[in-house]
Amino acid sequence: MKISIAIDGPAAAGKSTVAKRIANILGYTYIDTGAMYRAFTWYCMEKGVNCEDEKACCALIPEVTIKLRPSGIVLCNDVDITRAIREPRINANVSYIASYKDIRLFLVEQQRNMASKHSVIMDGRDIGTYVLPNADVKIFQIASVETRAQRRYDENMEKGIPCTQEEIQADVRKRDYIDSHRDFAPLRCAEDAITLDTSDMSIEEVVNAIIDIINKKLEEKGKNA
Ligand code: C5P
Repeated sequence: MKISIAIDGPAAAGKSTVAKRIANILGYTYIDTGAMYRAFTWYCMEKGVNCEDEKACCALIPEVTIKLRPSGIVLCNDVDITRAIREPRINANVSYIASYKDIRLFLVEQQRNMASKHSVIMDGRDIGTYVLPNADVKIFQIASVETRAQRRYDENMEKGIPCTQEEIQADVRKRDYIDSHRDFAPLRCAEDAITLDTSDMSIEEVVNAIIDIINKKLEEKGKNA
């Protein structure tokens, strides 16, 4: 029996960190949909295309192949871009790319295809509302903008990515604004999602809380985690 878990929420809410851990614990496949939008953005920039030019960016769709390896490696046309897609220049442009309907349809098709083959835990912005509207469990993970910026700052320091707290806060606010105001599949909490404010929670606490929710929901549905 295939299970699908959707985790949505604003930028840097810690979704991918907890989704990865839960996937490991429950034996599901983790799918980082943000990495796919980031990979497309990387390719546009690599080609020297202006990310605010919808027509030019969408014209690249036939050239792009994105692969997410279980190890977390992200490939675009077989180039390893795992690290490059976390750079500030990608943060600054990815929300434009993610607002283009044709690019979303192209990537959503691949996301749905992955969910049809495996039990998945997928994180993003529109998973519960658009990509997997019938997901078994939907979580909307939030935290204050200050907490999110601090978490992303700590993460970057650990990975050796140079940044300032001010830059991160500005990036997070800008992406949230564009992501929640686009016309097609915007960032939104699904009606049947459970909202989890993680501002005062540790990663462990968030992981445990979500696993509890998953177990309860699956039990209600007569499915096994
Ligand atoms: O999750 P992450 O912060 O890596 O996502 C990067 C960007 O990709 C988001 O700011 C958003 O613009 C876009 N995105 C999206 N829909 C998703 C996942 C990510 O629009 N399902």
